[in-house]
Amino acid sequence: MNKSDSERIASVLENIGYQPASRETEADLILINMCSVRQSAVDRVYGNIKNFEKLKKENKNLKTMLTGCVLKSDFKKFKNHFDYILSIKTLSKWPEFLKEIKYFYYPNPRDSKFTERFKAEYLNEKIGYSKSFSVFIPISSGCDNFCTFCAVPYTRGSLICRNHQEILKEVKFPIKTGVKEIWLLGQNVNDYQSPTDKTMDFPKLLKTINMIPGNFWIRFTSPHPKNFSDELIDAMAECEKVTEYLNLPVQSGDDKILKKMNRPYTIEKYKNIVKKIREKIPDITLSTDVIVGFPGETKEQFENTAKLFKEIKYDIAYIARYSPRPETAAAKLKDDVSPEEKEKRYKILTQILKENALEKNKKYLGKEVEVLVEERKNQFLIGKSRHYKTIKFESNRDLIGQFVKLKIIDALPWGLKGELI
Ligand code: SF4
Repeated sequence: MNKSDSERIASVLENIGYQPASRETEADLILINMCSVRQSAVDRVYGNIKNFEKLKKENKNLKTMLTGCVLKSDFKKFKNHFDYILSIKTLSKWPEFLKEIKYFYYPNPRDSKFTERFKAEYLNEKIGYSKSFSVFIPISSGCDNFCTFCAVPYTRGSLICRNHQEILKEVKFPIKTGVKEIWLLGQNVNDYQSPTDKTMDFPKLLKTINMIPGNFWIRFTSPHPKNFSDELIDAMAECEKVTEYLNLPVQSGDDKILKKMNRPYTIEKYKNIVKKIREKIPDITLSTDVIVGFPGETKEQFENTAKLFKEIKYDIAYIARYSPRPETAAAKLKDDVSPEEKEKRYKILTQILKENALEKNKKYLGKEVEVLVEERKNQFLIGKSRHYKTIKFESNRDLIGQFVKLKIIDALPWGLKGELI
């Protein structure tokens, strides 16, 4: 979502005459699009302040600007260090705001008057994408789920859905220019409902995009297990452009911890969703997000997460060691799992994941797969398959942004090796 926002910001700035600088020392404006999901990301912004001050001494015209997901407490601290702090939701007004010498416009994102005024209009800004073959298209912004560990509802505000006509318009344009991959983004895509047509929910949106002619893949992130419907599973199975990859965040394998996280589902329900998905899409690549060391997480409760990992056999997992986020409900709980214990739990899950991922990747040996080539590293081209497997192969041809057919010749836990057919 941040990358997508950065693309929109770049487009707005380019429209008013800014051009990308190749080095910090050449810049007249340095803009940070911040993320508050983890403290380490916030600390990196703090870590840059001294550098900005030094650059400002060298270039008197330099302005610095902060936007993105900023918590109230951080806003107060950053206020004295940036020339501008602007809410991303006001993006369409930035050309006006940037004429001011000093401007701080950061109302509470949950303020309903503010939300009403700006709705999802910033998402409709005309955009130039940073990649020519894969684009991010937000379908909504904000979240009202209030998982107790998460800062998003406080930084991005209430859920606002874009109307489906705008989304379809934005999807059709890159497809016409030959884009091969569309990522639909939302904090919880299952909460999507078009403001102009109440029947247009996420499964229907997928089906509608799937009908657009063209040779492209549809991916999305992320759904919430609390409202993962049978209709969505059917839509994923029916739509040939929707790829066989799903990130389904579990966050914990223990019902009591899930309750403390304000995640309204049980592990039984989660496993049932996975079972239904695998019945309809047997070879789906499944990934998850999980937190170890949530306040009060006992060894037995962590064992339930480890057990779930062994049972589900995820292909990919984003494992986070819990860190309290200011303003969230969990920040009021005692962060009582030691850093060493969090690290231990992180390593245990990583080891289970590694074994399962290798076992699953070995199933691709000798098979033919279609890959969208994304980048070059030395003699290798690297891309992703429909199943979101990272695959590298040797070639000196210019194939970035193209679909190629590969035969898999080697399998590792975190990727595959192939050769052009
Ligand atoms: Fe955060 Fe939960 Fe909303 Fe996801 S669903 S953005 S974890 S509050």
